[in-house]
Amino acid sequence: MSFVHAQLGSSHSLDGAQVITTSRSAVASYQQCPRKRYWQYEAPNGTATPGWERRRLALPLVTGIYTHHGLELLLGGTSPTEAARSASLAYREEVASRGLAVEVDSSEAEVVEEQAAHVEALVLAWARVRWPQWQEQYELVEVEKEDRVALADDVTLAVRADAIVRRKADGRMFVVNFKTVGTADERWLRAWETDMQLMTELLAAEQRHGQEFGGVIIEGLVKGRRMPQKNDVGDVIGYADSTPLLYGYKVDANPPLTPQEYGWEYTRRKGWHKFKTWRESFSAANPTMHGLAYWINWLPQEVVESQFVVVPPIMRDRDRIESKVRQIVSIERGIHAALNVDGGIGEVGLDLHFPQNERSCHYPSKCPFYEACFERGTSDDMQGSGLYLPRVDHHALAEGSE
Ligand code: SF4
Repeated sequence: MSFVHAQLGSSHSLDGAQVITTSRSAVASYQQCPRKRYWQYEAPNGTATPGWERRRLALPLVTGIYTHHGLELLLGGTSPTEAARSASLAYREEVASRGLAVEVDSSEAEVVEEQAAHVEALVLAWARVRWPQWQEQYELVEVEKEDRVALADDVTLAVRADAIVRRKADGRMFVVNFKTVGTADERWLRAWETDMQLMTELLAAEQRHGQEFGGVIIEGLVKGRRMPQKNDVGDVIGYADSTPLLYGYKVDANPPLTPQEYGWEYTRRKGWHKFKTWRESFSAANPTMHGLAYWINWLPQEVVESQFVVVPPIMRDRDRIESKVRQIVSIERGIHAALNVDGGIGEVGLDLHFPQNERSCHYPSKCPFYEACFERGTSDDMQGSGLYLPRVDHHALAEGSE
């Protein structure tokens, strides 16, 4: 089978038939739960872009999106400090307009402040330890380029890789993907062995550049687990990311007996306590560099390096890619046919073509469409419920970050 390279914005094939445009996240949504795919990408909402999304932004997703934004600025030539600040500011603006879905017992304002700092910290930390290695090993070819690849005459896939690089040593090219992740555990690492995104992005990149690539490199940016925070009597009063980028330990100065000291590891030593690094000025320690920039620069190199996991280049054989393409084309044709019956899909059609997969309702986290599925009246007036907004088509932003 050969694949045709399509132009952005094309919506009809050469013979005038309608072309179905899909994305990795839309296919993944269907695979997770067909009904979720319907709510998220297909349900009419009165605009030209069907589908719904939660009014309140999902905490891990939006932190991932703005960390990507900071890295994109950095790769595009912006200084690390400026890229980190701009991304953090953009995060705050977006969250202020939509609200953030936070854990019960958490203060939304405090979580927003922490996550905005986390976006800044990850960009600064990546710039400190990974960017120099990158520049030594690779030449940057392009950043965040939107692409569309025709999988069949009637099905096109929209793709956007974070970056494409050329290895200086041998000229081989690679697709690079940044993924923010709570913990880069065995499960996370193994999942890349079968990930569809690796195949589809590789397919698009190879076609556009007219050569075989060395594979896809995954750069994991570790955010740490969200851990419960307790007060003096043991009540949970909120949750915080467990990362040395944001939380350190210090003992206050007691002049003239002891100076102020900082540490990054937990300690039971007398007088030491945990503190928020982004709120500390560090002006006594360093009059020229303040706040997070000082802390990220002060941390031992290996501590900062341990916040990043690089998955070595992953390659896919042609047969597996072609098999995946056949599966995507079949799924998309089936959805298109189901939605385009005379008189609309209706309730019975929804049950026949978009069955509910209840195994995905609460795992790995609560499904954003839980209320649409199971709360009486919500699906009759999605926007009126106050929970949902018409979807904005930003499929390629930080796809796959958690
Ligand atoms: S709530 Fe459950 S059944 Fe409904 S869309 Fe989500 S995963 Fe599917």
